[in-house]
Amino acid sequence: MALNPRTTHREFFGAPGAAAVMVLTVAVVFVWYFSCSASAGCQLPLTAAQWARIAAGAADYRAYVSPRAVAYYALWWLWLALLYFAIPAPRAQGVVLRNGQRLHYPINGLPSLLVTTAVAALAYAVRGAGPFLWIADHYFQLAVASLLFSTAQAAAVYAYSFRRRPARDPVLLALAGNSGNVLYDFFIGRELNPRVGALDLKFFNELRPGIMGWMLLNTSFALAQRARFGAVTNSMWLAIVPQLAYCIDTLVFERCVLTTMDITTDGFGWMLSFGDLTWVPAMYSLQARYLSFTPVRHSAPAAALIAALAVCSFLVFRLSNSEKNAFRTNPNSPAVRHLRYITTESGSRLLVSGWWGLARHVNYAGDWFYGLAQCLATGFATPMTYFFSVYFLVLLLHRNHRDETKCREKYKKDWARYCEAVPYMFIPYVI
Ligand code: NDP
Repeated sequence: MALNPRTTHREFFGAPGAAAVMVLTVAVVFVWYFSCSASAGCQLPLTAAQWARIAAGAADYRAYVSPRAVAYYALWWLWLALLYFAIPAPRAQGVVLRNGQRLHYPINGLPSLLVTTAVAALAYAVRGAGPFLWIADHYFQLAVASLLFSTAQAAAVYAYSFRRRPARDPVLLALAGNSGNVLYDFFIGRELNPRVGALDLKFFNELRPGIMGWMLLNTSFALAQRARFGAVTNSMWLAIVPQLAYCIDTLVFERCVLTTMDITTDGFGWMLSFGDLTWVPAMYSLQARYLSFTPVRHSAPAAALIAALAVCSFLVFRLSNSEKNAFRTNPNSPAVRHLRYITTESGSRLLVSGWWGLARHVNYAGDWFYGLAQCLATGFATPMTYFFSVYFLVLLLHRNHRDETKCREKYKKDWARYCEAVPYMFIPYVI
């Protein structure tokens, strides 16, 4: 088989679907800003005045684009790229690629975060909350800057994927991103692992500028709330502490990202570039942004309930993922050797006790309830702050469908045996 076969099956209904996803996701970022802000409150549908503001920006780009925000955004990205090279790091190997090669990745996301946090703390000590309040005030301009940056980056990697290489070592394309349609391939990602020198763009973008940008935005919104109302409310803590824990958890387990579909299978195009750089920080920080201008205060019992939901669901998410990881790394380790499993014809083993005996994707359930707890922190005055729960439900259901289809094809009758042993999908005795 040729190394880079033509893509025949197109997801998202091909190029028109890809264009629709691009327009829709950018529209969501814009609409959620214009209809949910200190001046607008937080209600849909948009009023005529809000539509007029959006139109003003469409007519004159200067209403949306701030050169200062673009410059700061570029500096932020470059700063983290610098740390990628500058901080000594253990190297992890990626999976074996179709061309037989394995790439190496520096695992220094967590130290990069620590250095960046130290610099932010220094900035706070010297300049006070000012720089953070600027970030909170210019959320939208920064989101637009990240949109411009992520789109330019996607265009650059698309063009770069056509570079000349020796015939014995051609550019490795993503199996799904070589349709020949410019728009579709730009969206899905044509090259599998574009690298500038030793900087692996997909790996770098996945966990650093966006995830750390999300943390910086949350911190800025908490300080903005304090500046506006004199204190940080318990609702703000309930929203941002779990998100902080989630980001740190992601960076602690940075090497686990190397075996995810994003890294092993998907090309790096607009979808991932925009998702990593714009969607995650702009939309995942919504709860903190809302609370920065709406000081929701929960009673002690309500706060305790939300905190308990967050802690329990985080434990389900983390312990189940770690259990599978430990079992797949070394099934004889003392932590997992008591677990029951079935052996499949492919040689892989599937756990049927412990967390994975409760439901086939109990980890997704934990993850979803964890997100719900953060939305509950915003109270019930508007459904708009529950956007994340709805979106994440769709994402996890789609992912679950994709994963079940993959496993059914891979394990065939063994998968049916497994489903018999573990009949529930997400929550034991419920679904
Ligand atoms: P999983 O970690 O659930 O991995 C699924 C794979 O695990 C299957 O394809 C199969 O692979 C293997 N497997 C399935 N059942 C068993 C079993 N019983 N015993 C042993 N191995 C089994 O999927 P994801 O990578 O999608 O998710 C990882 C985490 O990341 C989840 O907690 C998810 O919620 C989270 N996530 C978060 C996102 C976010 O935006 N915040 C986005 C996506 C995911 P094999 O072929 O090797 O057998």
